Amino acid sequence: KPKKRLEASEYIAGILKGDRVLLSRAITIVESNLATDKILAKDIIQAILPSSGNSIRIGITGVPGVGKSTFIEAFGKHLIGLGHKVAILSIDPSSQRSKGSILGDKTRMEELTTRQEAYIRPSASGDTLGGVANKTGESMLLCEAAGYDVILIETVGVGQSETAVHGMTDFFLLLMLSGAGDELQGIKKGIMEMADMLVINKADGDNIRKSQIAKRQYENALHIFPQSESGWTPVVSTASALKNIGIAEVWEQVMEYKKLVDANGYFKTNRKEQQIQWMYNNIHEELKQLFYGSAHIKEHLKTLEKEVIEARISPVKAAEKIIQEFKSTI
Ligand code: GDP
Repeated sequence: KPKKRLEASEYIAGILKGDRVLLSRAITIVESNLATDKILAKDIIQAILPSSGNSIRIGITGVPGVGKSTFIEAFGKHLIGLGHKVAILSIDPSSQRSKGSILGDKTRMEELTTRQEAYIRPSASGDTLGGVANKTGESMLLCEAAGYDVILIETVGVGQSETAVHGMTDFFLLLMLSGAGDELQGIKKGIMEMADMLVINKADGDNIRKSQIAKRQYENALHIFPQSESGWTPVVSTASALKNIGIAEVWEQVMEYKKLVDANGYFKTNRKEQQIQWMYNNIHEELKQLFYGSAHIKEHLKTLEKEVIEARISPVKAAEKIIQEFKSTI
């Protein structure tokens, strides 16, 4: 039996009271592509906006198998122990076009899932990474309005999703392994450059020595990067998510970072810049949808593709033609 549709005001009141069921339903609305849901979602977001933002937003990335879910389980429990309420969201590039997901499995954080102080939501799915990221950003605002004061946004370190997560978080954490070359870990220099902290996970048993060596290597590698805008010098540490070692230290570093960027003003400026960027991301996504979503354009594109293949029209000319046509419809 389909759930009764609620008014925006009912969702808003529920979220502000910290009602997890209504929070979940509101996130589903945010993730929906139905026109009526989109309107409802915008009303809800607009209303809760003043109650959002009171959190620290942490991005977490690393290749599959590095221990992200194990780390989040340990880190989340530590934070709850300190009295925080933690929301865990993910951006999973593999969930696009339902190709199956790397991060979606809820059972990955067994104990955390059962805790009232934690809210875990698997990745939204969508056609474009930009679309998925925008939805996750809105879900994040809803979680903040519901009283979650630490937001963890997880993504897989394999593609462009790191940039999206970096663009919506305050602190960016990169999990790594010792012994595997950077190329093996698929970690691009650009991702290391975004990191505020690098944690070498699985530093336990036979791995401890190797992890110490890796730590020094990464510290040296980070030295050659330009000073970041935040004024923060990235930290490298070792941890064992499985044995709960080095987890508290990660939070201590986040707090150190927060102290610095609150004092030098970067925390606020960065968030303002992210807001502006987010607006542009939405404009880009809307424009893409308007264009590619049009039946007429779709039809014409098919014809143009053929003409381009047969060299009857140049790609540049073809692009110009379809844009002209699009302009004439607006
Ligand atoms: P994810 O794909 O990045 O989320 O990685 P998982 O958290 O699922 O971990 C992958 C595997 O590594 C699992 O079998 C974990 O038990 C194991 N693992 C995770 N963290 C550690 C750790 O600190 N030490 C050891 N020895 N194994 C770990």
